Amino acid sequence: MQKRKTPMRMCVGCRVMMEKKALKRVVRSSEGAVSLDTLGKAPGRGAYVCSLPCLERAAKTRALERALGHKVDEGVMLGLREAFEADGQP
Ligand SMILES: [Zn+2]
Repeated sequence: MQKRKTPMRMCVGCRVMMEKKALKRVVRSSEGAVSLDTLGKAPGRGAYVCSLPCLERAAKTRALERALGHKVDEGVMLGLREAFEADGQP
């Protein structure tokens, strides 16, 4: 028998554990491209955020960079913000 456990992840902005489905995943591909993983299935190293303000905070404190193991510059942030707004708040 397998236990049904809700997958939990930590938001890199507010460091609160939440259900994975309530979070947005930012993913870094093997090519080093950072984007919002709207389906939650893209391969690569991921970081989770619960909201746009948390994304901004994680970028400011470099928690996002640490979680992804990759530099997140302003150009990347512009793309992430746009994708976040297009995808809507969870
Ligand atoms: Zn958060």
